[in-house]
Amino acid sequence: MSQGNLIEVKGLTKEFPIGKKWFKPKGYVRAVDGLNFTIRKGETFGLVGESGCGKSTTGRLINGLIQANKGEIIFDGQNLVELSDSQWKIYRKRMQMIFQDPFASLSPRMKIKDIVMEPLVVHYPKMSKGEKLDKAKKLLEVCGISKDHLNKYPHEFSGGQRQRISIARSLILNPELIIADEAVSALDVSIQSQVLNLLVDLQEEFNLTYLFISHDLSVVEHISNRIGVMYLGDLVEVADKDQLFKDPKHPYTQSLLSSIPQPGQQEREKVILKGEVPSASNPPSGCKFHTRCPLAMDICKKDIPKNIHVDDNQIVACHLYN
Ligand code: SF4
Repeated sequence: MSQGNLIEVKGLTKEFPIGKKWFKPKGYVRAVDGLNFTIRKGETFGLVGESGCGKSTTGRLINGLIQANKGEIIFDGQNLVELSDSQWKIYRKRMQMIFQDPFASLSPRMKIKDIVMEPLVVHYPKMSKGEKLDKAKKLLEVCGISKDHLNKYPHEFSGGQRQRISIARSLILNPELIIADEAVSALDVSIQSQVLNLLVDLQEEFNLTYLFISHDLSVVEHISNRIGVMYLGDLVEVADKDQLFKDPKHPYTQSLLSSIPQPGQQEREKVILKGEVPSASNPPSGCKFHTRCPLAMDICKKDIPKNIHVDDNQIVACHLYN
């Protein structure tokens, strides 16, 4: 399946200004705080965490929708953070995003054939209309939308069908990487699994690599080969999916896993967290999780835990493993 890394993220940092005083920001929120991880060619890397933990910001940084303050994003040997706007045009073709709300990302005034063809119009202006239409038709069909519907508008489709149209559009430029940001979160559970199965089939057929971002660990479990768990802008654990579910090491991962049922398996002991997620504008010192961690020690308040390789395929940032 995977042959080397497609993406290497090193020390990736993004701050957003907050408030204003005399035309200057009052402060900054560090949404992404020095992330390090890799995505291997041909795999699905799931990025999971509570709302506001920085996972969507990470996806948008990789796709160039926003600029990093610090760090590197190496895509197939090229640091994307250094690209000029014109260089980005080449790389943007190689990676596409699918968003949570297909209705918002599909223009309501365009027929679906034009929506799917549009990236070709932008990137291949010399391609004939017939060829563009042909490609759009084929991809829509692969994604489960009949060619009889080409002249319909987005509002004439269900939520699941609209997400299939978004997926067809995301494939039209033959990308290598798809960043799916909460791509099935707005769908009913039965439709979710149909769309997830479609993504798995497309990965095989088109040799795709996925960064799959979701707050829902059971959805991430369904589709991922490896999983990164984020908390307040940091990755606290990265592991192969099976390893993570069998033996989660970080207390935060343990608490997330204890809240999802595992059919046919012994129920996990519930790990109840104290309090709410702290504000990213004023994160706790040391381990950012110490204010909620049931196993916190004195050192956790002072020292930032390092990434520890507890196994070949499992990295955890926690003082318990020093
Ligand atoms: Fe809990 Fe300390 Fe580990 Fe942080 S470093 S997860 S506070 S035990």
